Amino acid sequence: MNEREYKEVKELLSSKKNIVLVPHRNPDGDAIGASLAMYHYLQNTGHNVTVIAPNDYPSFLKWMPKSKDVLKFDMQNRQSKRAIDEASIVFLLDFNALHRVGSDMENTLKDFEGTFIMIDHHQQPDAIAKYLFSDTSICSTCQMVYHFLENIDAVDSIDTSIATSLYTGIMTDTGSFRFASTTSTTHRIIADLIDKGANNALIHNNVYDTNSYSRLQLLGCALSNLKVEETLKTAYITLTQQELDEFNYQKGDTEGVVNYALSLNGVIFAVIFIEDVEQKIVKISFRSKGSFSVNKFAREHFNGGGHDNAAGGRSEISLNETVSKFLDILPNYKTELLNSYEA
Ligand code: 5GP
Ligand code: MN
Repeated sequence: MNEREYKEVKELLSSKKNIVLVPHRNPDGDAIGASLAMYHYLQNTGHNVTVIAPNDYPSFLKWMPKSKDVLKFDMQNRQSKRAIDEASIVFLLDFNALHRVGSDMENTLKDFEGTFIMIDHHQQPDAIAKYLFSDTSICSTCQMVYHFLENIDAVDSIDTSIATSLYTGIMTDTGSFRFASTTSTTHRIIADLIDKGANNALIHNNVYDTNSYSRLQLLGCALSNLKVEETLKTAYITLTQQELDEFNYQKGDTEGVVNYALSLNGVIFAVIFIEDVEQKIVKISFRSKGSFSVNKFAREHFNGGGHDNAAGGRSEISLNETVSKFLDILPNYKTELLNSYEA
């Protein structure tokens, strides 16, 4: 977005509107954080605002201010469709293509005739939004929401709820400020958010230290399934549906597990394959260190995408076949894998 467009958006938001905020399907801390931050800001400035998530999200995000107001499109379908129908502005937050909300919601949004505003840090955004704020170099959509507020002269309106929401999203998308995407600007924004009321220790506790016993047991199972392809600097984890059931899998329980594989000394490419019998797919998460692009790998072979160092994908063959396919492809990337990262 250029200066003129920010002026137009500011003008658009200067009178009361019906506004809908949409994060991607299976929303994470960044998507929910960005949605709730904008929800608070737009409500505080007099708009009629609805957050509609395509589906539910993990319980470790449900403590967030006004999380209870979030509609789930799959569960509260009629109410959600009405809100979209009545809206004149829809914000698309933390995703780059309409299909990332799932086919039902995608069909509803395709018919929307008002103004789309997209704020997102994924590569190759679809040209669907009248106003597009896209920057793949920024660690999180929540940091982009902060810049968006800066650009419409609204940073002084950041209250405790907005600060808490933005802090949460920046924290979760940067692996607690440790990924390479974390810059000095990120830290300056984080400092400002603490000054504006974000309780950093409490937020970390609410997100990371509220595990159930069964979630830790499931982590133990995942770690015991960890395999290493040492000559290719790769490690991967599998979880079958039976294992998920055994440990009473709840949404979000596998989030972050793939990072354990990436934490092995010498490993620069980590993958987790998770069987989903209901959807008849294997959900895959890819992570890397250095120049090896998992976005490219996921796009080329597993129907997915994301960022250079964190991407997702899916496979419609069995878990065992998916792993075999992966192991067959992997040697083709030997040079890239070995040259990706010097520890
Ligand atoms: P995760 O592995 O945590 O599900 O996702 C990592 C990153 O890849 C996130 O930024 C997420 O938005 C993106 N991502 C995950 N799954 C998919 C997918 O199926 N398609 C695309 N294009 N991106 C994905
Ligand atoms: Mn994000």
